[in-house]
Amino acid sequence: MPIHDMATACGEPGHAATDALDAALIAELGADIVTRSADIEPHYFTAYNEAPGARPRALVRPRSVDDVSRTLALCTKLQQPVVPQGGLTGLARGAVALGGEIVLSMERFAGIESIDAAAGTITVRAGTPLQVVQEAAEAAGFTFGVDLGARGSCQVGGAIATNAGGTRAIRYGVMREQVLGLEAVLADGTVVSSMSRVLKNNTGYDLKQLFIGSEGTLGIITRAVLRLRPKLAPPATAMCRVADYDAVVRLWDRMRAVPEVVSFEAMWPSFYQYVGRHTPDVTAPFAGEDGFAVLIECATSAPGGDAAQTLETCLADCFEAGLVDDAALATSERQARDMWLLREGLAIDALPNLINFDVSLPTGELGEFAQRCEAALRARWPDVVCLFFGHVGDGNIHIGASLAELDEALAEELDRTVYGVVQEMDGSISAEHGIGVLKRPYLGCTRSDAEIGMMRRLKAALDPQQLLNPGKVL
Ligand SMILES: Cc1cc2nc3c(=O)[nH]c(=O)nc-3n(C[C@H](O)[C@H](O)[C@H](O)COP(=O)(O)OP(=O)(O)OC[C@H]3O[C@@H](n4cnc5c(N)ncnc54)[C@H](O)[C@@H]3O)c2cc1C
Repeated sequence: MPIHDMATACGEPGHAATDALDAALIAELGADIVTRSADIEPHYFTAYNEAPGARPRALVRPRSVDDVSRTLALCTKLQQPVVPQGGLTGLARGAVALGGEIVLSMERFAGIESIDAAAGTITVRAGTPLQVVQEAAEAAGFTFGVDLGARGSCQVGGAIATNAGGTRAIRYGVMREQVLGLEAVLADGTVVSSMSRVLKNNTGYDLKQLFIGSEGTLGIITRAVLRLRPKLAPPATAMCRVADYDAVVRLWDRMRAVPEVVSFEAMWPSFYQYVGRHTPDVTAPFAGEDGFAVLIECATSAPGGDAAQTLETCLADCFEAGLVDDAALATSERQARDMWLLREGLAIDALPNLINFDVSLPTGELGEFAQRCEAALRARWPDVVCLFFGHVGDGNIHIGASLAELDEALAEELDRTVYGVVQEMDGSISAEHGIGVLKRPYLGCTRSDAEIGMMRRLKAALDPQQLLNPGKVL
């Protein structure tokens, strides 16, 4: 009998059922791998920047692919739902239990397995923190193509499962573009090892793509072969001020032709003013009463290349052409870090009842989108604080919206207002953070019925009992 069938009348599994589940997991995996519900630390049921949520029925921390496989095979037998968990930095509440699931944390299955310098690849375990991969790549004379603020805590498996983007997507693409091979475990415990180490491999369906960005709903990622890029010399960073969004687009048009450009990030005037005032120990390079701030980073792997010189020359040209009103080139690592601190905008987290959005549209349409979005929000809430910033070069902006008073109904109305504008303009409600729980009600704003229907068919084929991360994405 499935252990779930022993649930109590109130819908939560009773003590007997939980004890039976613990006993079955421990018998299969050993007490070292399994933590009973009552002993799980809150960290494992707390989504990023949220209060603790539902306590999982058990925590499983596998040490091998075989442990993952045996856990899922057992859970299929018991009809026990499972939440795959990485570093818990995801911003869509996808990695925590909603009630009645066990959590399978990949934190112990970590480490670099090998680096192939000739091929320019690194083979890693899913639980490896992104920063460890970056450092191993650097030590071997390479650069890893994806970087993001959560690098120290997020895991490679989580970054693949969410198809993370980050600040270098204009140069190297998103996580999907880094993955050559992948190993994943299906809901029934089958290990699908597609650990290709080559760029060209046209041998039928590209199975790894199914798991990339599927947020743990189709399989648990266990290992990956990732591309490495030629090592970049330390970057040169500058902040520019330009008159309006049209000027941002014209500046991007110029800078995209420069091979050294790694990042092109824009801050709308109100965002720049806010973070300039509220980021501790950082002085904004120029007073931003009006105008957009654009952060540009250049780096080169060419022998003898000088990214700082390239950036300076480009900016001088742009200044001459009247594209840039003001520019500051960082002359120290500290100055560059301060520019990034402004752009990362952690200061806005202090705004009351902040709701974050992560949307994408073609770069040329982001200015109009921001205007329409702000107008729609202000028409309903005249005092709303809404701040726009983002990667821009790849069409991705973030919006921070804050209301003095907020309840669940208002939060949903605010979501619908923003996503309504995204839908009208044919954009995406999630550029890089994924759908998880938070954006699940709005998936239809971006994906058609036919697309969602096909997703459901894939889900039913790979996870017929709907045991992998239920209540997420679909
Ligand atoms: C400060 C900060 C900055 C960020 N910046 C960016 C950014 O620039 N770009 C960006 O894209 N994201 C960004 N993020 C979001 C987040 O870091 C990424 O989504 C990250 O890659 C998630 O990795 P994780 O290991 O923390 O995954 P988790 O949060 O643990 O999980 C995320 C999702 O993936 C699933 N999952 C995790 N591991 C596996 C696995 N091995 N197999 C199958 N499914 C799995 C989970 O079930 C969940 O649905 C940022 C987050 C923070 C806190």
